[in-house]
Amino acid sequence: MTQIPTVKLNDGHDIPQLGFGVFKVDPAETERIVTDALEAGYRHIDTAAIYGNEQGVGAALAKSGIPRDELFVTTKLWNSDQGTQSALDAIDLSLEKLGLDRVDLYLIHWPRPDLDLYVETWAAMEQIRDAGKATSIGVSNFHVPHLEKLAAASSVVPAINQIELHPTFQQRELRAYGAEHGIAIEAWGPLGQGKYDLFGMTPIADAAAAHGVTPAQVVIRWHLQSGIIVFPKSNSAERIGENIDVFGFELTGDQMAAIDALDAGNRVGADPDTATF
Ligand code: NDP
Repeated sequence: MTQIPTVKLNDGHDIPQLGFGVFKVDPAETERIVTDALEAGYRHIDTAAIYGNEQGVGAALAKSGIPRDELFVTTKLWNSDQGTQSALDAIDLSLEKLGLDRVDLYLIHWPRPDLDLYVETWAAMEQIRDAGKATSIGVSNFHVPHLEKLAAASSVVPAINQIELHPTFQQRELRAYGAEHGIAIEAWGPLGQGKYDLFGMTPIADAAAAHGVTPAQVVIRWHLQSGIIVFPKSNSAERIGENIDVFGFELTGDQMAAIDALDAGNRVGADPDTATF
């Protein structure tokens, strides 16, 4: 079984640095696909209430027979559930769908600054953690001003900020802020969501050829060697296996630097400052 490294969070808990994401995994297929991932060796699953597939994730976890303390499960509070009572209700519903009495990590999915509820919602997240329903709490898609507003209102620093991050969108400002304040960074869309020709880019294709691996494996390795927590999504058992088979080679300093140089501000998802979904 592949040994996955862990990252220590600011609350003392450990998170597996490589996991499996289920955004856009069809709810009807989720149990089978998450079962494939667990069989391939993944123990960290990233879902969200809005994905509509928490039930399938929970069914796969239950069926696997893997002890709860060997699993790391993340879900996220959807935007329409921001606010104190809605957040307290939302975690209960997520836990029911997952068939769990706690998640390892609960995230505010987007700041939605137009709603102006994320500071109040953060206080509810603290209650959720204190009630034992989430072992760690964090945020997703938060920019520095959003994090600073939380810091001004609460002494609890998010354990995680989950943000869009891939070789042409490297989020240096948020990573530096996270390093300074003890907020671990998770990459969403780590493979660029397949929205541009990441795998054809010269430094990635060259490193893949040099190590005899695939471009996707090079990109996942770049995330891991950069200290980022990553959970690529795939519907294919073959690619699920490929994406976890990344511990038999190491990118050189030059290969890392060449991929670092691809940063181009190329956001492929929504901008958290203006998103209104
Ligand atoms: P990814 O960057 O993981 O890309 C997924 C795409 O890459 C799919 O089209 C998949 O196709 C393809 N792919 C996967 N592995 C390979 C491979 N080895 N070779 C070639 N293509 C491959 O995008 P996601 O958006 O899924 O991001 C990962 C996770 O991040 C999500 O699943 C979710 O958990 C989280 N997320 C969080 C967000 C947030 O707002 N907090 C927003 C978006 C995602 P195929 O399935 O056919 O293999």
